[in-house]
Amino acid sequence: MALYRTKGIVLRSIRYGEADRILDLYTRERGLVSAIAKGIRRTKSRFGGRLEPLSCVDLLAYEGRTLDTVTQVEVLRSFRGVREDLARLEAAGAILSTVRALSGGDEADRRLFNLLYHALDALETREGGEARDNDAVASAFALKLCALAGYAPNLDACLQCGRDLDEAAEEGLLLHYAPDLGGALCAGCRSESRVGDAFPIPPATLGALRSLMACPLKSACLENGLGGAVRRVVSAHVAAHAPGNATLLTRLPASRLDPRSA
Ligand SMILES: [Zn+2]
Repeated sequence: MALYRTKGIVLRSIRYGEADRILDLYTRERGLVSAIAKGIRRTKSRFGGRLEPLSCVDLLAYEGRTLDTVTQVEVLRSFRGVREDLARLEAAGAILSTVRALSGGDEADRRLFNLLYHALDALETREGGEARDNDAVASAFALKLCALAGYAPNLDACLQCGRDLDEAAEEGLLLHYAPDLGGALCAGCRSESRVGDAFPIPPATLGALRSLMACPLKSACLENGLGGAVRRVVSAHVAAHAPGNATLLTRLPASRLDPRSA
């Protein structure tokens, strides 16, 4: 079994059996990794409490056939400021589930690791930290991650007729978002096409989405009243493009997993 060292961010930590934990991490060198930390829940464990979700760690582990085994871990940054604030923590939870949903393969993507680190950093360090700003960071993260994965939403022109959507909005035409098609439609094309799950969006939504895609995570913000529409578009877009968020955890015997720690 090969020993390896990598930097990773803990996405999920689930109790397993008597004293172990199973971890999902997104690592800089190896992408998504599932690993077991044996004996971590014993009071005298050498790991202490250092493998909580959101922690950025330096990890030493052995490759295993189904699960890798953690042998050493050092916390580089705990993001405690995120964990101890409910609004920030909720946004971080959305960010971690976007990573799990969109990073299906084994291939490591340093850009994804860096984007995730910067998103948690933005949540922890930005001033104010209003719920709306935290939401904006989570939505901006999801849009940037979609763009990295090659699923950037199409926000400029109607997917069917190519019409400029800003012009259509100025003329007072209703716009729709079609997550399966990965973009927006004008009202005429919406009624002609058989896209079952397209839904109407307020005209300013497209501009808000575009600025979230373009701005640095730390300055992501949303106009009052657009949060709901932006969240709906982003989560429908992510769900439509997720290769499936079935990680190794879902294939382990359910009786040994403790759902309270999920
Ligand atoms: Zn159209």
